Order: sequence, then C-alpha cells, then structure tokens
Amino acid sequence: MKSKEIRSKFLEFFESKKHEIVASAPMVMKNDPTLMFTNAGMNQFKEYFLGNATPKNTRVTDTQKCLRVSGKHNDLEEVGKDTYHHTMFEMLGNWSFGDYFKKEAIEWAWELLTEVYKITPENLYVTIFEGDKTDGIGKDDEAYEIWKNIIPTERILLGDKKDNFWEMGDQGPCGPASEIHIDLRSEEEKAKISGKDLVNQDHPHVVEIWNLVFIQFNRKADGSLVELPNKHIDTGMGFERLAMVLQGKKSNYDTDVFTPLIREIETITNSTYGKNEETDIAIRVIADHVRAVAFAIADGQLPSNNGAGYVIRRILRRAIRYGFTFLDIKQPFIFKLVSTLSQQMSEAFPELKKQKNLCENVIKEEESSFLKTLDQGLVLLENIISTAEGKEISGKKAFELYDTYGFPIDLTALILSERGFSLNQAEFEKELQQQKERSRSAAQTKAQDWVILKEDDEEEFIGYDQLQADVKITKYRKV
Ligand code: ATP
Ligand code: MG
Ligand code: MG
Ligand code: MG
Repeated sequence: MKSKEIRSKFLEFFESKKHEIVASAPMVMKNDPTLMFTNAGMNQFKEYFLGNATPKNTRVTDTQKCLRVSGKHNDLEEVGKDTYHHTMFEMLGNWSFGDYFKKEAIEWAWELLTEVYKITPENLYVTIFEGDKTDGIGKDDEAYEIWKNIIPTERILLGDKKDNFWEMGDQGPCGPASEIHIDLRSEEEKAKISGKDLVNQDHPHVVEIWNLVFIQFNRKADGSLVELPNKHIDTGMGFERLAMVLQGKKSNYDTDVFTPLIREIETITNSTYGKNEETDIAIRVIADHVRAVAFAIADGQLPSNNGAGYVIRRILRRAIRYGFTFLDIKQPFIFKLVSTLSQQMSEAFPELKKQKNLCENVIKEEESSFLKTLDQGLVLLENIISTAEGKEISGKKAFELYDTYGFPIDLTALILSERGFSLNQAEFEKELQQQKERSRSAAQTKAQDWVILKEDDEEEFIGYDQLQADVKITKYRKV
C-alpha cells in the first residue's frame, strides 16, 4: 500500500465514524508562548482540553506535521542512528472532545489496524497504565477489560507513569494511555527471548506505533487528581512507522516516504545506501533533516540566530556536517532535494509546492555560508594542531572553535583522531557546562511538554553536538 493511500485510508476510516477531517496546524507555533514547535497532534486542540474553547465538532481527525527536537520530546540524537525516530514526522490522530471514550477508541484502533490495514493481529501487543500510588489511582482496569475481549491477555502489558500516563503540564487535563506496539521480529528471534518480560527495549523491529490517551483527570494546583466531567480521547499514530509495517519493511527509510529522497541523495552525492553503516547514517540524517527544514521554511520559519529559527539552522547544519564529513560533499547540495520532496508531499501539504523556490534558495544560502565556516574552522584547527606541544589538544581551544566559530565538536574530535591527536574531552565538557549554566541562569521554566521559551533559547540545542550517553529503555511488566 502506497503511503498516500495509507494516509487517506486513516482519514476516511474516521470520517466513516463521523469525524470531521481537519487540516494539520503549522509545525512552527506562531501564537503559543509555551511551545516552539508542534510536537503532537493534540497541540492545536489544547484549548478544548483545557475547557477554554468549545469545538465545532466533537470528533475530529487529521494528520499533523510534528517536530521533536526540543523540550520533553527531543529525538534528535536518535535520528539517523535508529530507523524509526524522525525530527519531522506526521502524526495521524483521532479525537473525541467529551464524546466517545475508551471503548470506541480501542475498538476502532483495532478495527483499523487489523481489518482495514490488515496487520497480522498476532504481531501486535498493547500496554495499559499500571497505576500510581502517589496519585492514588489503580491500574487502568477499564482499558484492560476492553482489550481482554480483543487480544490474549499475555499480550497486554503494564506500563509505568513515564510511558503510560500523559500530562499536558504540571496542572490541567491528563490521563492514562494505552499504546499499541508491533513486533516484527522473526520467529527464531522471538524464540530466543521468550520468557523475558521486557518486550520493547529499543529493538528496531519492536516499535510503538499508536498511542491512545484517555484524558479523564484534571491535575489541580496542589497536585491532586480529580475526575473530569467531560472525558476526552487523544490519539497519535506515527505515519512513517505505519508505512514501514504496511509496506513490509524493517526501517522507515525503506518506505516510499523516504526512498525517493534517498535515491536522489545517492545520485547527487555518488554514494550508495545500504553498504556501510556510517554512510547510511549520514544519508538518513540528510533525508530526515531536509524534511524538517523545508517544512519549517514553508511554514514561514527561516533559519536565524535565535528562537525557532536557530533550531532550524542547527538542524540544517547537522545535515550539512554529515554530508561534509561522511559523504565528502563540499558544495551545497541539500537544496536540490526540495524538488523531490515537494513532488512527493505537495498533495497532502500544498504549502511545500507554493514555497518551493523559497525553500531552495534559503537552504542553498545556508549551505554556502556554513560550508565556509567549516573551511575556516579547518584552517584554525590546522593552526592548533601545528602549534600543539603534545599529542593532546586542550578542551578550551576546542571549545573556542565550537563556541566562537560554530565548528562542531565531533568534527574536531574526528579530525584530531585522524591526525593522531586526542582531545581533552573532560576539559571541553567543563567549558560547555559552564556555558550551559550561564544560559540556564537566563531562566527557563519547564512544565513537561510545555516549555516556556526565552528569546535566546539555544540552551536546549547545544547538547546535540555532544555525545550523549542517555540510553532510553522502555520497560513494561506483565499484567
Ligand atoms: P517512542 O516511545 O517510540 O519515542 P513516543 O511514546 O515518544 O514514541 P508518542 O508521544 O506517544 O510517542 O507519539 C505518538 C506516536 O507518534 C508514537 O506511537 C509513534 O508512532 C510516533 N512517533 C513518536 N515520536 C516519533 C518520532 N520521533 N518519529 C516518528 N514517529 C514518532
Ligand atoms: Mg519518544
Ligand atoms: Mg513511547
Ligand atoms: Mg507513546
């Protein structure tokens, strides 16, 4: 099934269940001081959940352009390295604003996946909320009872607050979630791990595809939970992951959402995808990032030196750097991908076609100027190397190169190691930490998904040139 059809089948299915199909909100938030980018389908409906506005229709469905590069949802470090987290992705969703609740949400999700999309039911398993003592709520028995009639109980797992309880912020609407995961491992692979109760441990072939959130509580200022008079449904399914499943692939990048871009990158850069892990990561990063950047520009967000524009600039620079380092491309080329992207996506997102020239010109300009920075940085680095006394380069010098000239630290480390030098990483980290503390004192208030941003909010993004060691492991227990 082609991705276009996958998208329209989702919308038509919920239309048949009396949902109104609405347009995606922009990916770049214009009027929300608490959030820079749309990171979930529900963002544009926030006021309905908060009770500040009344929806025209109590059932809606859409595909939402999302970007997860900051705040609570920051997947940037995973992107390219794994095959199922993107910066920009589409989230298919259906909503009930005080209308239907758990039974319909669960049964329709199952019907769509197994009857319309015809996914093998045996490959699916689900999670429900295990409950929380401090909040005084037990396991989500209501969801459990519904799932029990649909799926064998050994495939209903319990998840903790981190994964299975959704909150908009410190206060406000919240509730348990039930996630649907797919296990695409072969029978042999499954047999090897059977008996273990940890099912989804960042295995690339065991992925979460759909999250059903049951908004049934309000968290009050004192931290206590009260039942909401109106209960809501908020669901989100990753479109690219669904395409992977339905097209029988093991990676989102092997679906028709990405293959035209990847073929184009191979042609332009004279490289081959699927032969070497380092090259593959670079190609995935570029294919992913050009989408984020082009969609942002088409939404009117140009790369710049602060706020959302800075984030977009850093994403583009990350792609340029991967091309420069691993594909050995020293000329602007990412802008050439916009054409392919626009051909492929304009039907669903006409803004891409309308802003195609702007996207191309802006990206080309950014590429030229950053490639110059990289060239200059190389000269400076040569200087550092030739005047070095020992075989170790000070972290201070590397930090200066990074901070003042925008020269990426991992590139510094790579070049140094190629030349038989090492970098005093600890010293660099110390400098970086000090700088982070300086910008942190410019205060930033975090409230879960909703981050209060300052004009010069770049603190969040400093981290992505670093090697981060936080391994995310999702743990589930059996019911
Ligand atoms: P994961 O645990 O895989 O990071 P999540 O629990 O953070 O996903 P949700 O916030 O529940 O994701 O979002 C709903 C759905 O959106 C997920 O079930 C998944 O299919 C999809 N999704 C989430 N993050 C990404 C991403 N970075 N790229 C592509 N799809 C994503
Ligand atoms: Mg996530
Ligand atoms: Mg998850
Ligand atoms: Mg989830």
